[in-house]
Amino acid sequence: MTGPPTFELGEEQLAVARRARGRGLCPECFGRLLGRWGHGLSNPERAERLAAGLATALPEAGDACPVCGGIFGRLGLWAERAERAAAPYEWHRFTCGSRWEPERLAAEEGLWAELGSAWGESARAAFNRELGKLLEARTGGSGGPDRPDLVLLADLAVGRVEVTVSPLYVRGRYRKLDRTLPQTRWPCRRCQGRGCVHCQGTGRTYPTSVEELIAAPFVAASQAEGTRFHGMGREDIDARMLGRGRPFVLELLRPKRRTIDVAALAADLGPEAAGRVEVEGMVPAEAADVLRVKEASPEKSYRVGVEGKVPLGKVKEALSVAVGRTIAQRTPARVAHRRSDRVRARRIVDARLVEGAEGRFTVELRTEAGTYVKEWVEGDGGRTEPSLASLVGVPLKVGFLDVLEVHDAEVG
Ligand SMILES: [Zn+2]
Ligand SMILES: [Zn+2]
Repeated sequence: MTGPPTFELGEEQLAVARRARGRGLCPECFGRLLGRWGHGLSNPERAERLAAGLATALPEAGDACPVCGGIFGRLGLWAERAERAAAPYEWHRFTCGSRWEPERLAAEEGLWAELGSAWGESARAAFNRELGKLLEARTGGSGGPDRPDLVLLADLAVGRVEVTVSPLYVRGRYRKLDRTLPQTRWPCRRCQGRGCVHCQGTGRTYPTSVEELIAAPFVAASQAEGTRFHGMGREDIDARMLGRGRPFVLELLRPKRRTIDVAALAADLGPEAAGRVEVEGMVPAEAADVLRVKEASPEKSYRVGVEGKVPLGKVKEALSVAVGRTIAQRTPARVAHRRSDRVRARRIVDARLVEGAEGRFTVELRTEAGTYVKEWVEGDGGRTEPSLASLVGVPLKVGFLDVLEVHDAEVG
């Protein structure tokens, strides 16, 4: 708010102050009875104007204030606690919050009604704002609701400040060159990651993942406590991800450092990743990018090595029938544990025979998002119809599968 402060006191406002006099309110709580009247003044300044308007003495601060119980007198202490709680983290923007006993807030609203004030400001809103101002002055940080690095919650009853650290996001595209690598961390199902005889105490089904190989240098640099990996879909463990790679967002949880050189970290993922995972185009990202990546449903291109005793001419013929055609895919048995069992319509956008020899051939195809390619080739026991196998009339088996491209908007 710019311009000089305004606080015009009419009879209605003075009447509120008159009725409140003698109740032992501290200056903050006294002024806050009219906290939403006028602007440009702190609540203790409002109290001063009210006292002058009533030609009476300003109330004294004290723990005896029936509204706040002296909480506003201890703002400095709370600022100190907040600063100490935030100290382990790098932060620039913060938001203040506070947890109040509900009875205290309800009693305050009751007091407004009793005194006839339509302009009261809640103790919690005032406390959060004043704590924020003190912290800004002490630390040079910037308070406000917009994309905070930290949320500092003063638990007034417990006497402690809780810190919520916002994640740090980076995004890019990955290529996966290794057919033994899952996209994300894969905890052992038997022990849920605690470690048992089946996983030799590692807590894992697979020793590492795309997520972990990419995250390692970023976790080290940001001193994050964990990660979440959001891919624009995922390929099977035994499928490579080639071409320009698959878009992803890496979320670094509770980072202690936020100023990291994303390009430099991406340039060298370390020896464990060499030959297995590559990244490109990595840049800082934000929470909204996660949604964008999860909601995209781009077409994809694949190269599939197929085994089956069928003349190549017959394959070509079947592919020309399949192109542009919609197939009905019932949820494959192998993913039924995590996807609802229903029939989905999917389209084969393009398909061509690349090469072939006796008993095997290679196909490249482009499909609508969500098409199960392996099932389209093999038929999945009739759950996908028509399949390439049903079109050629011979049993087929996928020997290998590579994702050649994810055709999201950035690729075109
Ligand atoms: Zn008070
Ligand atoms: Zn286990």
